[in-house]
Amino acid sequence: MGTRKERKTGNKINFELTKKLAMAYVGGHSNLKIDMSATPMKIFVDRMKGARVYDLDGNEYVDYMSALGPIIVGHCHEHYVRSLKECLDRMSPTIGSYVLATEKELALAEKLKKHIPCAEEIKFAVTGSEAVQLAFRLARAYTGKRHVIRFSGHYHGWFDNVIGMTMNPEGNGKPYGIESEEDVFATAGKDPEAVKQTFILPWNDIDAVADCLKRYGDQIAMVHCEPIVFNHHALMPLPGFFEKLKVLCEQYNVVMSFDEVITGFRCGLGGAQAKLGVTPHMATFGKSMAGGMPVSLVAGTKEIMGLLGDRTVIGAGTFMGYPLGVAACLATIEILEENNGSVYDEMDRLQERLTSGIREISKQKGIPMLCQGTTGGMTILPGVECRVAYTDADLATLDIPMIFTIAALLQEEGVLTRVGGTFYMTTAHNDDDIDYTLAAFSRAMAKM
Ligand code: PMP
Repeated sequence: MGTRKERKTGNKINFELTKKLAMAYVGGHSNLKIDMSATPMKIFVDRMKGARVYDLDGNEYVDYMSALGPIIVGHCHEHYVRSLKECLDRMSPTIGSYVLATEKELALAEKLKKHIPCAEEIKFAVTGSEAVQLAFRLARAYTGKRHVIRFSGHYHGWFDNVIGMTMNPEGNGKPYGIESEEDVFATAGKDPEAVKQTFILPWNDIDAVADCLKRYGDQIAMVHCEPIVFNHHALMPLPGFFEKLKVLCEQYNVVMSFDEVITGFRCGLGGAQAKLGVTPHMATFGKSMAGGMPVSLVAGTKEIMGLLGDRTVIGAGTFMGYPLGVAACLATIEILEENNGSVYDEMDRLQERLTSGIREISKQKGIPMLCQGTTGGMTILPGVECRVAYTDADLATLDIPMIFTIAALLQEEGVLTRVGGTFYMTTAHNDDDIDYTLAAFSRAMAKM
């Protein structure tokens, strides 16, 4: 691996291919309103290995974008590739989720139930968005109620009832979120009725939840939240918040559900719920669980998930439990389990090096820089001086344009981050990658 000491003025990228791509696909691929790329140029990938990406123009990058989350064991990990190839040599990637099954499904179920605290029973889906919808259906069927509480800034997929919507300005106790033009997730074409399924409350505000449940608890089926809000500047849960939330949920017969699509298998084999020591009634998984193949999961208590067993609730799909996805999950988890999960300790060590390096370089530049996250990922928060950010009020001094400037400069200097300044670690990152990244960060800061 090159050390990139020779790098001077950033990457050269072929803009022609970007133009052709824009003509081939209207709106690009994932077309949220927020800009998903640090620069207007697409990086055309030639190959990937470990923590590195190589593009068609001959540039090399250390990758923390990690495909927006799924890449947890690095690119083209030998065991992972071998497992997928073995699967494809023996059977079709998908077999119909009906009469045919594979033995690997059994081994995987055992591992998932062992590692995920809330997983008394499990059910596959394909994307994170889909798992969330199945979780909503289960909670409604279980409680006989309709509405869902979710929190400002959290993201749960692209379906009508969860995309966009902001808090009702008339107050927390007022029903439903509202559509707002400023909302980066606002979209035309939604079923207006879908909006009326959701109350949107301020994150970490247990009084707002208590007030909402007091007024509307007889209509609320579920509280669904990101346990660590990677989709909103990695806001952390206030100590005690989830313990109180669980008590409230049980008091009002509401299902407490964690959206672990990002945190699952990224911050530990047991996800955020194991890390935080709070077991929800249900949780949704995706991304890292299969190391890059589309597989998602709903896990929950016997009582809730049992509704699938007697067909009270339907969770249908051609691809559920498909062999290639199962092989991917199994291989990923096997790699993450190595040496009793010590890969996570190594990710922690490297992330700590990265974080303290970034803070030090920023300090020299006179920029306060909170780096917030947990095992497997952290987000840079320029301008923020507090030790932990829990709420939007803690982000009052956050310089959002600076995040995008830093991301663009880092990309020029050969480092890829996720939109919003998140660095996702993988088990493939090593000390060389951290050295390389900190050198790139210094150069990026010098250009600011
Ligand atoms: N939940 C969370 C927390 C997510 O971050 C995402 C995707 N970013 C989703 C759900 C939706 O997953 P998918 O894109 O696989 O549909």
